[in-house]
Amino acid sequence: MNASADILSNLMQCLNQGTIEVIDLTHPLGPATPMIKVPEGHGKQPPSTSLETISDYREDGGYARWSTLTTAEHAGTHFDTPSHWFTGGDHANATTDTISVKRFMAPACVIDCTDEVKDDEDFILTADRLRSWEEAHGAIPAGSWVLLHSGWANRFEDADRFLNQIDGVAHSPGPNPDAVRLMIERDACGYGTETIGTDHGNANQFDPVFPAHSLMHGANKFGMSSLNNLDKLPPTGAVIVTAPLKIVDGSGSPLRVLAFVPS
Ligand code: MN
Repeated sequence: MNASADILSNLMQCLNQGTIEVIDLTHPLGPATPMIKVPEGHGKQPPSTSLETISDYREDGGYARWSTLTTAEHAGTHFDTPSHWFTGGDHANATTDTISVKRFMAPACVIDCTDEVKDDEDFILTADRLRSWEEAHGAIPAGSWVLLHSGWANRFEDADRFLNQIDGVAHSPGPNPDAVRLMIERDACGYGTETIGTDHGNANQFDPVFPAHSLMHGANKFGMSSLNNLDKLPPTGAVIVTAPLKIVDGSGSPLRVLAFVPS
């Protein structure tokens, strides 16, 4: 066997033996899935997710059971393409159907800020915080995801706590522009978070506003939101698979995020 065939064969053996674990980084997608509240003046509110029965053998005596799924591209655990933001709309191959599939497998750098977020719901991920992570774990490798582990996934089942809006302002952690610039400088493939969107709850405070969208997508990078089970990932060493649905001209998509983790 050639070397690459060996690698695949070893991979399957490790998966079967459990020496490489597969972790689901996805929340359930359904009517209870929290949806983002679009700020006033920034467009329409998305629908909540629902299933409407087309037919069901349990009720109509037919053979099959299937439904019409209503959801938004940016619902639940989901992927943001570069074309999601006006800054990224001119990149070639930047929609769900055109992004090269090679870009859907990448190593993950997990920045554990759970202690800081416990004390401060408005925690700002800074470039210095990323550099201190790099001192402990090495430089963020080109092509890897930067994932903020905040503990926010524990709030998912309580939409009010997950959104955490007080007087119209969301209180949830996220990166400032300098942190996003450092990710781009490192040539990260994207930034992922446990919160409802990639940006800080009050990302209007930054210049530019919404840097995890405007700067990352402007640099042809990805985003992921509402991730789960980041506590089960090591700081480095996991590989994640992040393939969105192949929606024609899609700006993003709910997806199943799988992590391969060495034991
Ligand atoms: Mn999104």
